[in-house]
Amino acid sequence: MHVPEAAVHVAFLTSAGMGHLNPCLRLASVFLRHGCKVTLIIPKPTVTLAESNLISRLCSSFPHQVTQIDFNITPLDPTTVNTANDPFFLQYETIRRSVHLLSPILSSLSTSLSAIIVDVFLISPILPIVEKMFCPSYIHFTSSARMLSFLAYVSVLADSDPAAQPHPSTFVGDAIHIPGITLPIPRSSVPPPFLLEGVNSFQRMIMEDGRNLKKHDGVFINSFEELEGDAIAALNEGKVVRGLPPVYGIGPLMTCEFENVDEGEKGCMSWIVEWLNERAEGSVVYVSLGNRTETRREQIKDMALGLIECGYSFLWVVKLTRVDREEKEDLEDVLGSELMSKVREKGVVVKEFVEQTKILGHPAVGGFVTHGGWNSVTESIREGVNILIWPQGADQKFNAEVVRMSRVGIWAEEWSWGTQKVVEGKDIAKRIKEMMCNEPLRVKAGEMKEAARKACGIGGSCELIIKRLIKEWKRNA
Ligand code: UDP
Ligand code: UDP
Repeated sequence: MHVPEAAVHVAFLTSAGMGHLNPCLRLASVFLRHGCKVTLIIPKPTVTLAESNLISRLCSSFPHQVTQIDFNITPLDPTTVNTANDPFFLQYETIRRSVHLLSPILSSLSTSLSAIIVDVFLISPILPIVEKMFCPSYIHFTSSARMLSFLAYVSVLADSDPAAQPHPSTFVGDAIHIPGITLPIPRSSVPPPFLLEGVNSFQRMIMEDGRNLKKHDGVFINSFEELEGDAIAALNEGKVVRGLPPVYGIGPLMTCEFENVDEGEKGCMSWIVEWLNERAEGSVVYVSLGNRTETRREQIKDMALGLIECGYSFLWVVKLTRVDREEKEDLEDVLGSELMSKVREKGVVVKEFVEQTKILGHPAVGGFVTHGGWNSVTESIREGVNILIWPQGADQKFNAEVVRMSRVGIWAEEWSWGTQKVVEGKDIAKRIKEMMCNEPLRVKAGEMKEAARKACGIGGSCELIIKRLIKEWKRNA
């Protein structure tokens, strides 16, 4: 595409993990489709191969419109920070502590910026940088509007507590009633690290970020009217917290052409698609817990038994490590040869990174057992696939409630957090059957798919918002 000299120029600052990168690059593509110039500031080195592959694909698809800038972060000694042994949390912390290195990068850009869009994990650390810039700053929020309302509201709740420095474990109480938000948030749905005794970095981050959200010019969120209209309106009307910047529901973000993997690099996807092609419409259960949640070893056997017992064909992605580069073990060694052969009689099990949106978009797939990562939820909704949510941690119970309220899926609430207990195979089979043969769910999922397509199609809410912003930025240039 020819980019006019005076094109709007948007910079994106990403963080880590496909759950952040996928929606960020999809949002960048929306701006690209509207003729904008995009600069991607990428913290390097990335944690996973999946991330670096995706970035390369976007840059080579838009060679004249996208500039990639490496943001070389200063490595931290993992023993000096409390990041729960998680390489993604270590990366977030490393990026946060390297943010001061961004000023020279930003001032060396050849054309001035119309706007900068920053990953949610940088809400507070980026402020000293953006305050010195002459363009508006926006947050790219990677979860649901329900989660955003929690982030915005908990600091207000803390401030209303008479104790000098109330701890989340006290001010959360049995449930949080967020003004304007349907259904209270039970204590059991709050991300577990938030309630831990003592003070940890996650608590500090949530409290600080909730207060600092107001200092940015807007928030982009991958949600839309039919899915979370009430929550988006409550946030925008000042019901949740007064003084928040506009919250732009630009979802559900579309999968883009640049995400397509080249023929020679498809790996397991080639035969997965062939296998799906041979299955009847809506007959396959797809199981995946996201890009960074390893399947717990103690749950693997029952998961296999549940899938075998449920009576449907299945495609099961088992992640043995959090980071793809470290994946070395053989699935058969983990499952055992007997169970592995039983699994293979009924379905397919892989440990590779798959093209999830391709799988969800395949007509054979009728149900998705997911951890409830917000991208997985919205990708499934876009394809009208029934959902069974099994939250494993973080914001996933908030997302599960959104799915349940919108009646496009079920939440196995009795399983609690996936990390708390081993769920038996027979219970897994029962819940899968309930999801797969659930006609009301299928009807509702079909309606939501239509609404989703309208929202992100020509003349839909996403396009209206983006056009309005581009106009505003041009006017203020
Ligand atoms: N994903 C994928 N293939 C995989 C695993 C994950 O394409 O094998 C993608 C998925 O489509 C989604 C993202 O990675 O866009 C995961 O984000 P989500 O918010 O669902 O969960 P997270 O992994 O961040 O917990
Ligand atoms: N978290 C943390 N430290 C960080 C960032 C996140 O402990 O620096 C944890 C915390 O457990 C929280 C979860 O991360 O519950 C939410 O972030 P996550 O990266 O899982 O979000 P997602 O990738 O799913 O958007």
